[in-house]
Amino acid sequence: MVCPICNDTRWKSVVGEDGVERVVRCDCWRAAVVDRLMREARVPHRYLRCEMATFEPDTDSQREAYRLARGFVDAFPVVDRGLVLYGRHGVGKTHLAVGILKAAIRDKGARGYFFETRELLRLVRDTYNRSVEETEMDVLAPVLKADLLVLDDLGAERTSDWVQETLGLVVNTRYNERRPTIFTSNLADPPDSTEPNSFIFQLGARTRSRLLEMCDWVEMQGVDIRETGQHPSPDSIHRWQKESPASPENLRRGAGLPPKSKSMARARLREGATADLPWAGGRAGTKR
Ligand SMILES: [Zn+2]
Repeated sequence: MVCPICNDTRWKSVVGEDGVERVVRCDCWRAAVVDRLMREARVPHRYLRCEMATFEPDTDSQREAYRLARGFVDAFPVVDRGLVLYGRHGVGKTHLAVGILKAAIRDKGARGYFFETRELLRLVRDTYNRSVEETEMDVLAPVLKADLLVLDDLGAERTSDWVQETLGLVVNTRYNERRPTIFTSNLADPPDSTEPNSFIFQLGARTRSRLLEMCDWVEMQGVDIRETGQHPSPDSIHRWQKESPASPENLRRGAGLPPKSKSMARARLREGATADLPWAGGRAGTKR
């Protein structure tokens, strides 16, 4: 459809208070730019409906994640920290990350990209193939330079020195250039670094501590819909959190499990002790 205001020239004339006519960008220009940025952002079709507005938090940690996401989008691009959204499958991490990305593009005109970590590594690996013209840097440049990057499912790729180096390069470069990144991950962050499904085991201690420095972390927990039913009411969620032995609250209290030292450190952080903690990587992030 041809723009009725500018006839697709993307410029329109306006008369200022001083009576002088000036030529400015037509509204459709902005819409066209946003359209293009949205197409280039590589958000997979299956996340078409994922928006901030369609994210429905059930649990406290999901509400906390939403609050941080909202704050991030409102402040963007004046943000100095990204987010690490981690937790089990199906708690809304990718939904929220995609919502943030779309909002930053739509409301702020950000140049942003969505990459599944495994797909990004595959694209980089493919450039080592002689028949491919693209170089490693051709693939990585937009990832390193994007105003906003979503790196989805960090840790899904089986770890190796190469995987750790490549992801370390992405994390470090974005950190050094102060470009925010939203990470999602199914990894856990237990105190024991030999746990294979942990950040430290999969990414290495250096990258993990970089992530602590450059991001706010939220461990997202969802209700178990096998126990509450598909669309749980606030009441049934509340009851589930209190009564089910599988709820995060009761798991933490843990029948016979040793107390989790990290949860306690987090609780202290939450109580407002924002002093530096002796994390391995130096100054601690505001880990939640
Ligand atoms: Zn126009």
